[in-house]
Amino acid sequence: MPQLTDDAAAALAEAYLSDPQRHTSQDVVRADRLVRQTATILATISRYVSTSSQEEAKAEFPFVLDPSGEPNGPAGMNKKDGELFYYARIALASVERLFDLIVSVHEVPARNYDPMAFVVAAVVTALAHEYSHGLYGHKEKVETNISGSRFLEELDADRRGGVGSLCLFVDRELRRMMGDFFNLKDPMDFLEAAMVGHSLLAFWLAGGREDLYAGPTMRCFMYYDGLRSIALRERFADLSQINLARTNADRIVVKIAKFVEGGDRLIKIREDHLAAETGYKKTFKKNLYKRTDETVAASPFWIAFSGRSQATWDDDNERHGIVIRQPTLRELRADGVKVPFKASLLETICRLVCRWR
Ligand SMILES: [Zn+2]
Repeated sequence: MPQLTDDAAAALAEAYLSDPQRHTSQDVVRADRLVRQTATILATISRYVSTSSQEEAKAEFPFVLDPSGEPNGPAGMNKKDGELFYYARIALASVERLFDLIVSVHEVPARNYDPMAFVVAAVVTALAHEYSHGLYGHKEKVETNISGSRFLEELDADRRGGVGSLCLFVDRELRRMMGDFFNLKDPMDFLEAAMVGHSLLAFWLAGGREDLYAGPTMRCFMYYDGLRSIALRERFADLSQINLARTNADRIVVKIAKFVEGGDRLIKIREDHLAAETGYKKTFKKNLYKRTDETVAASPFWIAFSGRSQATWDDDNERHGIVIRQPTLRELRADGVKVPFKASLLETICRLVCRWR
């Protein structure tokens, strides 16, 4: 199965944008640009995943960028029975729908990056959610006696969605695109923008099937929990920086909500974050990990990616299939990024030695 090239993604964006059936945003000029840019970003991510799936698990994992104006659902993931063939799908219509929610937001208060970065963060989180169903064995039909296992898998996929959103800033090529397209260049700006994007996604997805999906507050928290966990693990930021980004995201959401229809609910999603954290730990966390143990054991990706048995997965449970290319300090500086946070040279060398392949 061929990979999605940038040219093919551009052609699909063109096909979508010329479909007269599509829901047209109130700002067609900005929507047009955003759809094309997001298509390039998604194609880039999809090539990482399909390459690593092929190399490390001998599995096909193509990506379908759906150009139909009236798609059958915003996103999805499936597997061919009995074969190592998985595919993830995102409808380009989702990009425009998400954009339309914040179409009246023309700037981010006290920032100089483009609010369309929120939409990209939301879409990439949704894509990472879909990928994780395949990568973490949710499609292997593993028997269980844990009740509500499908619900727990969705919750886990939400968390992995948040993990995956970090690839937008840690991967060099993606980071350059975020800078060129949206002027998003600072690691702290990226963290807060990703969190606002998570809120936007949860807001948009609210009202789905209650037997499968948690409410928007919990979903938003799960995205955040995943992002926090990978950011700490990758030493992208420390806890105080993550908390600061969270506070900044709260403030930004309050300010932009005035321009969003039903914006009060968007604010509420963030206000209830701490309650969601308590609720998650008390109600779901234990069974979620139990269920993940079961599905991960059946995943061809996990064993291949980690090279370890299931018994040790707890140490390594944040490994995500979106391959995050570690930039070197020199590359970061060459890109004009103030070398982030506490990345000392020694730390970077250790990371390269331990994780580079
Ligand atoms: Zn799902």
